[in-house]
Amino acid sequence: MVSPLLLRHFLTRSRQFFAGKEIVSRDYGGLFRYDYGRFYERTARLANVLAGLGVGPGDRVGTLAWNNHRHLELYFAVPCSGAVLHTLNIRLFRDQLVYVINHAADRVIFVDEDLLPVLEDVAGELKTVEHFVVMTDRKECPATRLAPVHLYEDLLAGAAPDYAFPEDMEENSAAAMCYTTATTGDPKGVVYSHRGLYLHSLAFLMADTIGLSERDCMLPVVPMFHANAWGLPFSAALAGSRQVFPGSRPTPADLAGLIETEKVTVAAGVPTVWMGLLELLEREEHDLSSLRVVVCGGSAAPRALLEAYDRRGITIVHAYGMTETSPLATVSRPVSRMDDWPADRRYQVRAKQGWLVPGLEMRVVDDQGREAPRDGRAMGELWLKGPWVADGYYRDPERSRETFADGWLHTSDIVTVDTDGFIAIVDRSKDLIKSGGEWISSVDLENCIMSHPAVAEAAVIAVPHPKWVERPLACVVLKAAYRDQVDEAALLEFLAGKVIRWWLPDRVVFLDEIPKTSVGKFSKKRLRELLERGEI
Ligand code: ADP
Repeated sequence: MVSPLLLRHFLTRSRQFFAGKEIVSRDYGGLFRYDYGRFYERTARLANVLAGLGVGPGDRVGTLAWNNHRHLELYFAVPCSGAVLHTLNIRLFRDQLVYVINHAADRVIFVDEDLLPVLEDVAGELKTVEHFVVMTDRKECPATRLAPVHLYEDLLAGAAPDYAFPEDMEENSAAAMCYTTATTGDPKGVVYSHRGLYLHSLAFLMADTIGLSERDCMLPVVPMFHANAWGLPFSAALAGSRQVFPGSRPTPADLAGLIETEKVTVAAGVPTVWMGLLELLEREEHDLSSLRVVVCGGSAAPRALLEAYDRRGITIVHAYGMTETSPLATVSRPVSRMDDWPADRRYQVRAKQGWLVPGLEMRVVDDQGREAPRDGRAMGELWLKGPWVADGYYRDPERSRETFADGWLHTSDIVTVDTDGFIAIVDRSKDLIKSGGEWISSVDLENCIMSHPAVAEAAVIAVPHPKWVERPLACVVLKAAYRDQVDEAALLEFLAGKVIRWWLPDRVVFLDEIPKTSVGKFSKKRLRELLERGEI
């Protein structure tokens, strides 16, 4: 049968089979609990609310929100009624936030109560927004300069509880969009279709990826504005997993508490989240034995992190992707023929970005445009294509032509591929360090530095050098217990036996914190700025 792949299926399936399955959301007043049955009803009400606000097919609806149950309702009500969910990154610079709202032409914005000031600050410059809706339990609207403004719960209470979600939408129609911050210039919009998100959701349910299932309890720590929380709320609804949302500004202690009390089995986030939790676990006892998998991606998961979690009986699975790939592209799990490999070799595999997820295709292309050999050494740029890979940036023909050429997404990630087909990211092309005509991988150096027991975080950037063109500079944060106890000489000595001599950083600086990007990755851009200003 020809049957369109629509997110509506996830919604109706979860009502039909998982109506009693719980959804938990950390709210301002504590934990809010309901189930997929109530979730369906509220989502139907929300779809009626959207229609009442004049939102029609293809219109963009913005959200400026944390990971919570109302955000989940928007994840379904907006696309399943034919509109487009535009998740706004709450940490964008002011001008970028104005740009993305105007560029996407959002008609309505839903905003969490504690993010009101962020939106109020830019409201005067928004050209297309007709309504603001505050996502809160309050009966009275908090004082705000936004207008016209509505209360989420009021609107839901006044709306009919049924809605006929259309079954005959075009599967390639837009369901959601996200902007990714470019190194230079304005953010770039990526549009996700129903079909792309549908197939991407299935990818998370496959046994060789994460194998998300009805038995799981899923905690997305990755923000719902970062590539749709990596698509996990969609996958979990399809699988019928319990979902736990960590709410506003979750700390490592909040996360440990949620995992412990809610018996979370699958959690997902960037490495800095798991580094933060590890520091807590080194100080305090928490029973996190319910965890089956911690999905770690967004930047390289250091091997030392995988080992440290293994020692606590928790398995980290390393995954790689981009906003442009919905995002899941590769997952690193040792395959059957590696079963009897020694632990060290298996760790080497797990620290790689891994195998391409079924459904996607790849090429690794050197600077001559030739396919790089699969020998684990030759480097090339990773190109990707497939049903959940974008084919351009939203209303941005020039940058679309640059990145999406010859039918492939050119990722700008420089990788090697080994004989087993496992991809390892050497660097983002802009982060590679060119020293004396040879490349140094900042990712490899960072991994090595982070294997020192005193190191909490490390980021390596290039410093201009008169003779060698560039040399590595290591920025290091020591764990609280080791502050002032490890110096540059000790770190260099530790590295000496582990990396090639000429890779050794010329300088190690100790910082209180590595600046982070808006999605919690180490911000090398910011480190380079600090370096230019002579502040490090
Ligand atoms: P941003 O550009 O704001 O960081 P994205 O999340 O789209 O937003 O970034 C995608 C990039 O993140 C990839 O191109 C790659 O460079 C990096 N990345 C993602 N996952 C990994 C990983 N597991 N290991 C190394 N780098 C990763």
